[in-house]
Amino acid sequence: MPIPKLLSKTKLMSGYRCLKCAYLTVHHPELKAPITPEKQALFDEGNRVGEEARKRFPNGILVTNPPWDFYGSLKKTRELIAAGVKTIYEPAFEYQGCFARVDVIQFSKETEKWSLYEVKSSTKLRLEQVDDVGLQAWIIAGSGLKLEKISVMHLNSECKYPDLENLFTIEDVTQQIRDKYRSIMPKVKEIFETVHLESAPDIDLGPYCVKPGDCDFKEVCFTEKKIPEISVFNLPQIQDRKWELYKEGIIHLDDERLKDLTETQQRMVEAEKTGQRFVNQSGVKEALSTWKFPLVFLDFETINPSIPEYAGTSPKQQVPFQFSVDVAQKLDGPLTHAEYLHKDATDPRPVLISALLKACEGSGSIVAYYAQFESARIQEMADCFPEHREKLLALLPRMVDPLPIIREHVYDKAFHGSFSLKAVGPALLGDRHSYEGMKVGNGLEAQRAYQELTDGGTPPARKDEIYKSMLEYCGKDTWVMVELVKWLYQV
Ligand code: SF4
Repeated sequence: MPIPKLLSKTKLMSGYRCLKCAYLTVHHPELKAPITPEKQALFDEGNRVGEEARKRFPNGILVTNPPWDFYGSLKKTRELIAAGVKTIYEPAFEYQGCFARVDVIQFSKETEKWSLYEVKSSTKLRLEQVDDVGLQAWIIAGSGLKLEKISVMHLNSECKYPDLENLFTIEDVTQQIRDKYRSIMPKVKEIFETVHLESAPDIDLGPYCVKPGDCDFKEVCFTEKKIPEISVFNLPQIQDRKWELYKEGIIHLDDERLKDLTETQQRMVEAEKTGQRFVNQSGVKEALSTWKFPLVFLDFETINPSIPEYAGTSPKQQVPFQFSVDVAQKLDGPLTHAEYLHKDATDPRPVLISALLKACEGSGSIVAYYAQFESARIQEMADCFPEHREKLLALLPRMVDPLPIIREHVYDKAFHGSFSLKAVGPALLGDRHSYEGMKVGNGLEAQRAYQELTDGGTPPARKDEIYKSMLEYCGKDTWVMVELVKWLYQV
């Protein structure tokens, strides 16, 4: 593939992750992991945050050229600067073959210099964001613009809807970038040299393959390095130690040198070798002994908008819009089902809370898989709705969780190192408990479905279809939990 005359900041930043990544991005974009609808939803959310940020800089002019129109956006930016425009959104710059489009630049009449504001839809400043903005600043300054201040605008977790005045925290990173400035040119040079190589450089796997987030070429490189489907990388809670093991050449779980594992990790290794399921019956029995019938199985689906939309919520706060409850009076008795799914764009919580309190009435244990999540949502709703506070808080001491019981006392080869409900359910209970083929099959899909369901432009027939699929999905979560808990009681 011919090397483009201008390398975009995105391509250059891939070289900050690893030089092979830069090479593959330029020469083999077809090997990149496809953009999933969930990833696309994140990009769209980022764009919305960018638009919101612009409102903090009134009277600016937007460079409207599409992202692929490098030369058009450069020309438009030059024209706006020459015309004396003081605030420009999405201007473009080039320097030494590097191209960047930044979020906002603003001119100060007093100092006759520009400030750069880069918007990020995270709630904290991250290290790689400083590199990213540093590269932009280097390109802008190289193009001839005098920069005096460089800032990252990220979401402020203290902000609470409806007051969005403090939606952003502006962090001045000028000094951090000054400290790194000298390293930018050599890095860019190294990236350019790499993309001009005949073939991809041989770079070994490392922590940069998965941080920040998975590299787009992870599958390609892991296959190249012959990492089997199940390896030390799948060991539960292995964290960074997997890289130490990999460096020592320990990849396979049957490697004799694989030592100093936690109990859970050792169980996985044994299960892989022997195929035998591990169950500590007395441990399971003891853990279940504190649970009280009727068991109330609860699952929430939530949405976490970057720009808060509901009273008292903060950026990225998880807000429940759906729940499913199954109540079992006794282990083999019939289940009573209750559910709620909010249908429009209004705050889902007021109606949901009433329905939830009704569904959880009584005194039995409330079973949630990874109950910390459900408990945190109940606590947040109690904080936001004083009229329901007492009753909501009364649910918390009733919460119990099958996840730690399984993690401590059960292991099956088919878990493949994961203790998520979606891994554990089918492994212990069979394929009927798998989520394969469901129209909505995980939490992120449920979020996207909810956005479509509550979008005024979605046709009614489509809304009906989504509504059904969402009820099916959340209901499946509680049903799998019921079956899982029955299984635990019976082991
Ligand atoms: S997967 Fe790792 S080695 Fe491969 S390109 Fe990405 S960061 Fe580099």
